[in-house]
Amino acid sequence: MNFIEKALPHIQALSAYQSGKPIEELERELGIKNIIKLASNENPTGFSELAKTSMLNHVAHLTRYPDGNGFELKQKIAQKCGVNTACITLGNGSSDILDFVVKAFLSEGDEAIYSIHAFVVYQLLIQAVGAKGVAAPAKNWGHDLAAMQAAITDKTKLIFIANPNNPTGTWLTRDEIRAFLVQVPSHIIVVLDEAYFEYVEEDAYGSGLELLSEFSNVLVTRTFSKIYGLAGLRVGYGIAGRDITDVLNRVRPPFNVNSLALVAACAMLEDIKYEENSRALNTQGLRFLEQSFDALAIKYIPSVGNFISFDVQQSAMPVYEALLREGIIVRPIGVYAMPQHLRVSVGTLAENKRFIDALKIVLQKLPAQV
Ligand SMILES: *Cc1c(COP(=O)(O)O)cnc(C)c1O
Repeated sequence: MNFIEKALPHIQALSAYQSGKPIEELERELGIKNIIKLASNENPTGFSELAKTSMLNHVAHLTRYPDGNGFELKQKIAQKCGVNTACITLGNGSSDILDFVVKAFLSEGDEAIYSIHAFVVYQLLIQAVGAKGVAAPAKNWGHDLAAMQAAITDKTKLIFIANPNNPTGTWLTRDEIRAFLVQVPSHIIVVLDEAYFEYVEEDAYGSGLELLSEFSNVLVTRTFSKIYGLAGLRVGYGIAGRDITDVLNRVRPPFNVNSLALVAACAMLEDIKYEENSRALNTQGLRFLEQSFDALAIKYIPSVGNFISFDVQQSAMPVYEALLREGIIVRPIGVYAMPQHLRVSVGTLAENKRFIDALKIVLQKLPAQV
């Protein structure tokens, strides 16, 4: 029996999401130590002591089911974001929220729009329900909102915008987003994915939260995987009007967020200093990487996230593999239609320096391809 052939045709056409290479895997493959992973945009300083203590204190309670409504975490998010708890959906990572909105509103024959170099998970989720993903062309690697608007048809149900975008680090101003929303028919849900919102230090940047009262078709998603350093625990959230939130919670599986994640996320929201320090370290790291790329005459896409994509002017895979042999894991992004770029996450200052030193060695050794 061939069960691949038995799967629904649109599922057969899917390829599994490729995550960043785990450190342990590279250790096994090369038998080397001191590996640094700058491949999945995690916080290089991890989570705070406060979160650690709250998790350790919670261990004794793991026998019990979690609070299925996440009461306390929703209170904290409501307070921080200035929204009602009835507007919050908790997810097993923010990818869970993206999955809910797709499941709830998209089916075969429907269309959903995203930008060609945008987060690849959108495309996978859309395809998994048999709907049609429409990739709009980009502008300077970032979202081209005019092109996205032009891609709208009678069948469009959802539009995904990552702001800032991964893997390009590009961003849209609050005015650009607002002008776009004014043009989008109000029955189309616009998902504003703000996984890197906390890192942005640009005055013209605005969160979709500012637009929720004006546009009832907006869903903002956020995560604890990035600046809050809890990627392994899987917790994120969505904020939208009560209607959309009601629908998302109908498809949300029971107990989708575990209790350790709930207490750790609460602690991270309290630790404002930790968040500020993480942001400052990131901005310092971005400047160092930009200056280093400039010094090496390597082209890069200016980023406001905690990662930066750079152009190696040849197939990126040999450079990626040579970096692995130096003990540095970065991310190839060919699946984002960027086969000559690599994405590196901003690490600690020492990690950033080690990455640049390794990159110098690797580029010297590799024969330039024409
Ligand atoms: C990392 C990331 C997410 C969040 O992933 P979760 O760990 O599931 O919260 C969402 N969107 C983008 C653009 C990301 O890069």
